[in-house]
Amino acid sequence: MIARMSEMTGKTLKEHKRTFVPENQSLLFRGNYFKELTPGVSMQFARGAKLIGRLCSFFEETLKETGCEMISVPPNMAGKNGFPGLMASLIENELKSYKDYPAGFCFKQMVERMDYKASAGVFGSKYFAGLNYWRFFDSLEANDKSYASFPSAIAEKMSEIGIDAKFVKDSKDEFKPGVRGILWAGHEQGDKAVLRCESCGYAATERMASKQLQKAEECGPEMPEMIHTPQVKTIKDLSVFADVPETKISKAIAVSAGGRLIVLMMRGDRTFNPHKLSEILEIDADEIKMAEDEEIEAKIGSKSGFIGPVGLGAEIWADSEIPVSGLMVAGANKKDYHLKNVLYGRDYKASRVEDLVYAEEGDPCPCCGKALKLVRGFELGSFANYGESFSEASGMTFLNAEGKASAFGCNQGRIDLYSVAGMVCQENRDEMGICWPEKASPYDVHVLVLNSKKEEQAALGEKVAAELSSLGKDVILDDRPERAGFKFKDC
Ligand SMILES: [Zn+2]
Repeated sequence: MIARMSEMTGKTLKEHKRTFVPENQSLLFRGNYFKELTPGVSMQFARGAKLIGRLCSFFEETLKETGCEMISVPPNMAGKNGFPGLMASLIENELKSYKDYPAGFCFKQMVERMDYKASAGVFGSKYFAGLNYWRFFDSLEANDKSYASFPSAIAEKMSEIGIDAKFVKDSKDEFKPGVRGILWAGHEQGDKAVLRCESCGYAATERMASKQLQKAEECGPEMPEMIHTPQVKTIKDLSVFADVPETKISKAIAVSAGGRLIVLMMRGDRTFNPHKLSEILEIDADEIKMAEDEEIEAKIGSKSGFIGPVGLGAEIWADSEIPVSGLMVAGANKKDYHLKNVLYGRDYKASRVEDLVYAEEGDPCPCCGKALKLVRGFELGSFANYGESFSEASGMTFLNAEGKASAFGCNQGRIDLYSVAGMVCQENRDEMGICWPEKASPYDVHVLVLNSKKEEQAALGEKVAAELSSLGKDVILDDRPERAGFKFKDC
């Protein structure tokens, strides 16, 4: 195939009007691969469509090797319990017997990004090309095995195009249905923070990373004592006033979660993490809201800003650090008063003790105890293992070899081809432009006619391009009436 640049719509540019972060991807906009239609909304021109197509076929190889068939599907169809309607009808109609398993499907689809960001270019584009796959198994073991092996197969594939990608955990519990992970590549300007242990290799997204607990603190026999704390408005004020570090303050956060009011106790220096609570409660994070002052007074008879766990008539949950933190300062459920020497276990108990806070840089790794590091990067894909949860929630089953109805297992994933394209540019360039790795290059050969006005040069260019094309090469021919230097810059 020969693509003639003189026939392509759109122009290559010396400069792009917008600076993107990270910067190298501007080559995709300057080179007429992508065009920004409105801030944050990009489209592919001919060269871009070719690039995305090439990347799609590149990953499709791995998907096919693991048993996925490429199919083409209509736009998103809503289905039962969040399960796409399309997959539900495929299962109902095509995967009825154990003989139909395992089965796998992959398809390319334009996907809407909810948190799009114009300054992030292809990495933040409102619409992006996603290569999706769904795989179905007749046993949980086979399903879990496939989920465990797949992200590493894709990461290895990425290394062939110069991208160092890692599978990063994005779920609290690896063994629970609904476990998620992302494929992530490090970059200092990336928008996805990951906490990583350089000693043992543990890595998890910022929202799901956990930490090792310190040893339980020894403490004296002091009993709770009321202290008058006027003008104390923040944890910092309280720390100064009571002369204790923020780690020794027991902060209370009242949340309304899926219709119930829960008081969460955590260390004063910690930040409440709604994503972890939403996983435990199996509700969406946006169903968790801070309780209103009136609700706090009416339901639990306490005062916002002074909520404390001792003698509180409410459902109390404690972050897992609380039981090992010894004597703490907490609210006294009375305006302008706090209690010091509050001890978990002796003075109150929580109905649940869970990891409810964000882990931070410097916290000990949950696996080996070495300090965690916060590193930035980009998300290039996402994966989820649903186990048998979809089968159970939707009531769909298949007939096993004994003729009995059985639950199927499934896992699913998506590769973000726009972010991969951006990352290829980021990792493979020199001062002249993009150095396409062979496997990600939109064309195999770029033929330049240095002076298209000279007939013999134009004819020679056509001849060379035709010969290469007849050998099965994908050729792009720069036959535009432009200066040679300009053409070199564009290839
Ligand atoms: Zn570690």
